[in-house]
Amino acid sequence: MAIKITRPNGTEDILPKNISKWYSVENAARNVAESFGFKEIRIPTFENTDLFLRSVGETTDVVQKEMYTVMAKETKFTLRPEGTAGTIRALLQNGMLNEALPQKVFYILSCFRHERPQAGRLREFHQFGLEMVGSKSARADAEVICLAKTLLDTLGLKNIELNINSIGCPTCRKKYHEALRAFFADRKEELCDTCKSRLEKNPMRILDCKSPVCQEIAKNAPVITDYLCEECSTHFDDLKKYLTSLGIAYSINPKIVRGLDYYTKTVFEFVTTEIGAQGTVCGGGRYDGLVEELGGKPTPSLGFAMGIERILLLMEKQGATFLPEKELDLYIAPMDESAVTKAMQLAKEAREAGYTVEYDLMERGLKAQMKYADKKGAAFTMVLGENELNSGTAKLKNMQTGEQTEISIEDKFFEMFENVMLNSMFSGVLEEK
Ligand code: ATP
Ligand code: MG
Repeated sequence: MAIKITRPNGTEDILPKNISKWYSVENAARNVAESFGFKEIRIPTFENTDLFLRSVGETTDVVQKEMYTVMAKETKFTLRPEGTAGTIRALLQNGMLNEALPQKVFYILSCFRHERPQAGRLREFHQFGLEMVGSKSARADAEVICLAKTLLDTLGLKNIELNINSIGCPTCRKKYHEALRAFFADRKEELCDTCKSRLEKNPMRILDCKSPVCQEIAKNAPVITDYLCEECSTHFDDLKKYLTSLGIAYSINPKIVRGLDYYTKTVFEFVTTEIGAQGTVCGGGRYDGLVEELGGKPTPSLGFAMGIERILLLMEKQGATFLPEKELDLYIAPMDESAVTKAMQLAKEAREAGYTVEYDLMERGLKAQMKYADKKGAAFTMVLGENELNSGTAKLKNMQTGEQTEISIEDKFFEMFENVMLNSMFSGVLEEK
């Protein structure tokens, strides 16, 4: 017997029974992003590996440990571990940064990282993310954070904290790096091997290390907010002012550095304690140097990404409401071959008007057909046999009340069908009241 092949570790099948949950998040994300003037972009699943080395950064966990890279026909490709690099590459490659700024795009896509799978941490996961390119103003930071907050509120989520920080620009970063090197110098031998090499190249990364020893050592490290230059400091103050005036509560957490190297100035996270250790549902910030790094003109930019799986975990935990599943409005049961073409025609008519209709495709007997309709939760059923074809009328049965309504299956079929449907919906509303 052939050996069964199972899905790779850390991947998930999103099944039809759960799809309306995904639609709930995706539809809300699209609506909110569009209400802020963002348009959707779709980018390739894989990119040239160099794109991520240059943007995400060579000393990050993502590049050092988590990327899926293949050598294909002498070119190195990587499955996208995040959406920002590819999006900025696409904006540049398509000349979109020569258009009216800010350029505002959003995406819903899967990302790939080789991590240890656990609740809220997968090897293929999904993000809703967006990028706003071209504004250096703190208004843009406030706008992007406000958008994320609006979406979380729209989804009905509670108990999510917004943490913000500024990690400065290359000027303030230089002084800060020196301070960090001096701080870690004494305890260099205790750091993990990765962090030993980070000490020279990128000491801020040590603050983001997951090793408990490194975390313990980093506890009393100097904080970046003490090293901000005047411009960065003003920018951060402006952001705080805007958030306050928007009524968006925040905490300042000088320990946030984020896992990607391209960030400058503002970084932020929306965090919850309700779904275990993987509590960051959204992470983002400003990346003023990235466009230039990828070959464009210096262009201040920012964005965020939300982990859809973590959002869904939280929605389930908090009993949030999801979109209802699409229901079967009508099941038509032909009793024999002669009734099948009529069933097909009636189904076509009702489907064109937006109803969900099925009829027998299994060549089953009437009893088995009704069992199927019942399993599928059909709101109405209609049996078509010799009598119905001869009389030109059939009985539309409301499966909930058992009530039967005789309707024409000739020229007036649709009109009458729709009447019955609307009536039943209307009485449903009345009963609920
Ligand atoms: P974490 O600290 O949890 O590893 P990160 O800093 O690596 O997150 P980002 O690169 O900023 O995360 O990605 C943005 C969001 O994508 C995260 O806030 C999270 O919600 C989600 N995310 C990141 N990695 C994963 C993963 N492996 N599985 C599921 N969701 C993820
Ligand atoms: Mg990570």
